[in-house]
Amino acid sequence: MINFLNKYNMLQCEDLSTHCTMRVGGKAKYYIEPLTASQLVEIVKQCNKLKIKYFILGNGSNVIFKDKGFDGVVICTKKMSSITIKEDVLIADCGANLYVLNKMAKDSGLGGMEWSYGIPGSCGGALCMNAGAYGGQMQDVVLKAKVFDGKKIKILYNDQLKFGYRNSIVKEKNYIVLKIWIKLKKDEKENIKNKQINYLNKRRLSQPIETFNSGSIFKKINNLSAGKMIDNLGLKGVIVNGAQISKLHANFIVNLGNAKAKDIQDLINIIKKVAKEKNNIELEEEVIFIGED
Ligand SMILES: Cc1cc2nc3c(=O)[nH]c(=O)nc-3n(C[C@H](O)[C@H](O)[C@H](O)COP(=O)(O)OP(=O)(O)OC[C@H]3O[C@@H](n4cnc5c(N)ncnc54)[C@H](O)[C@@H]3O)c2cc1C
Repeated sequence: MINFLNKYNMLQCEDLSTHCTMRVGGKAKYYIEPLTASQLVEIVKQCNKLKIKYFILGNGSNVIFKDKGFDGVVICTKKMSSITIKEDVLIADCGANLYVLNKMAKDSGLGGMEWSYGIPGSCGGALCMNAGAYGGQMQDVVLKAKVFDGKKIKILYNDQLKFGYRNSIVKEKNYIVLKIWIKLKKDEKENIKNKQINYLNKRRLSQPIETFNSGSIFKKINNLSAGKMIDNLGLKGVIVNGAQISKLHANFIVNLGNAKAKDIQDLINIIKKVAKEKNNIELEEEVIFIGED
């Protein structure tokens, strides 16, 4: 049934922990890295036709794979990573990394997305999540995107992408981002570089970026930092087996080396329970758990 994937170098029983920044998770029944948008679209069409479950993976920096793995096809975009520049617009394939994008923007004297320097995601993942930091977000710089809606490929302009807080039409409707156009502004290279380094230094001081983690676990609550609230609840440093609420930033959970996805889920449940009991607040996850229960 799955033979159509063989021509794309499909892997079986692939260890998913090597494909997410939290470094946890079981195995994917099938795993594939398409090289082009047409391969990606073809694979998805075939999966839909054969009713095979699939998941689109970028850099795995916002997903946590569950311990029982994924009983379908994980389609990772990391090999679709080309970026070109036309005047003040960067045109990036969905798997292009935000670090590389920032480097190219700086080298071309294009500013406006320095806030994203240090976010370890792909362009597709960043658009899907409307990633943001330090007052900037993808919504501010994305001109348009080429997406596949499961049936056809279309271009959606910024207002049609229906961006919201860590949300977009891509996330809501499970569209697939193939390419994005990012509009920036001319600036001095030195100025861009300094801004990028400043933002990265801020991250280094406030986030456990040298550890295995998935960034912020929870969304903000009424525009207030979930990290501050969790800190005030006295939960920093709490450990469940191999996972710990970061001592540096309470909205981060770090894998101490041998964590299971379940340990992270247990910590999340503890935080949610205490936040509800003490502050009557329902925290909502920003990270996405993928896989079998
Ligand atoms: C240390 C650290 C710091 C972080 N800091 C920030 C931050 O400051 N701000 C912030 O917003 N986030 C932050 N994150 C979270 C994460 O990096 C971003 O959400 C990032 O944009 C996710 O991109 P990704 O490629 O890793 O997506 P993945 O984790 O692979 O996927 C996330 C979601 O996007 C979907 N997706 C991926 N590619 C596509 C595609 N081509 N088409 C459609 N859907 C797709 C997936 O299906 C999934 O639903 C941080 C994470 C870490 C580990």
